[in-house]
Amino acid sequence: VPIASIPANENKSDISGTLAVFHDITTLQEIHERQAEFVANASHELATPLTAIKGFAETLLDGALEDKVLTRKFVSIIHDEAERMHRLVQDLLQLAKLDSREYRQQLHLEPVNLRPMFENVIQELSSRWQGKNLTVTLDPSPEDVFALANPDWVKQVAINLLDNAIKYTPIDGSVWIRYRSDGNQAVIAVRDSGNGIPAKDLPLIFDRFYRVDRARSRAAGGTGLGLAIVKFIVETLGGKIEVQSSAKNGTIFIFTLPLA
Ligand code: ADP
Repeated sequence: VPIASIPANENKSDISGTLAVFHDITTLQEIHERQAEFVANASHELATPLTAIKGFAETLLDGALEDKVLTRKFVSIIHDEAERMHRLVQDLLQLAKLDSREYRQQLHLEPVNLRPMFENVIQELSSRWQGKNLTVTLDPSPEDVFALANPDWVKQVAINLLDNAIKYTPIDGSVWIRYRSDGNQAVIAVRDSGNGIPAKDLPLIFDRFYRVDRARSRAAGGTGLGLAIVKFIVETLGGKIEVQSSAKNGTIFIFTLPLA
């Protein structure tokens, strides 16, 4: 829809053409709607733990404080819900940062050696699979592979994918990271022997707040933002990400990064 035009040749000799300004209202409308939906989702996600915190604090003030066992139980719930809100706010801040063009433009890229990067991430997350008896292995490339990337971002991607693999793989399962160079790209795979993601959900799992099983994600401490952050980072760095999954073979996320 042209929203402004200047007619040509209105008896003025110095005007020699027509200028039409086209404005893509549909896109703006869509962005606006998506933003509104995001704010509604974020508010809802924050309201859930907040309601629990308020409810348990009120019950304590109404007399439960007299009972030591109940007090311990309720304060522990309040603590867990506050932790949950904290994780959510951290993920929301991270997304806001990624969304900011200024931040992306200032981003510093450098060669990132993938082997020590993934070794460190596995080490850092090791407490998360204690008690589940998972086997978590890194299958390093025979030669060093350097991606051209921001180290904090690659770390964030590895943490989110590995954390999901650990969360959604039952006891005695296995999780595996592999990376190789292929042409001018680094190809990285994070695979698990978990129960997989149903085919109908696969196209949606990178959407903000999408979860296959809300209760399960919540119980595992999920925010529904991890994969949205992963996809955003990988694509901003010039890579691609895809997922394959089946109930029999588990799930594999494969992403690429440009080589340094
Ligand atoms: P969450 O915080 O809920 O884990 P994510 O954005 O990281 O959010 O993932 C979105 C959803 O995708 C999860 O809730 C889960 O249902 C599914 N998912 C992600 N990774 C895996 C995996 N490795 N195995 C099975 N399901 C997964």
